[in-house]
Amino acid sequence: MDYTTIEEAAKCSVCGKVGEVIISQPTYDANGLEIDIAVYGCPETLCLQSGKRWVVQSDNQGNVPIRNHGPRGLDKDFPEMTAGSLHNARAKVEDILQREYETGETNES
Ligand SMILES: [Zn+2]
Repeated sequence: MDYTTIEEAAKCSVCGKVGEVIISQPTYDANGLEIDIAVYGCPETLCLQSGKRWVVQSDNQGNVPIRNHGPRGLDKDFPEMTAGSLHNARAKVEDILQREYETGETNES
């Protein structure tokens, strides 16, 4: 497997500035090895990537595996939520809550 360093992976792919750690969570990978999952954000407000986040997985030596195959190797760029999609999501949640209230049914088991 190919690796890069945290220093490289922490850089914004658009402007190259070192990203800020938004949240960091130590955990274990599929082989039981200690890893760290960190979410970074670009600190440059003028950057096209401003407000977007990227995830960096590193081992306890600071090595970051390069994703170069499989679905995880794909660039994921999700559309931003618009006011309309937020409104639709809120309406859907209210509908579910209303139905639960009326029928007394919940998804809890
Ligand atoms: Zn940037």
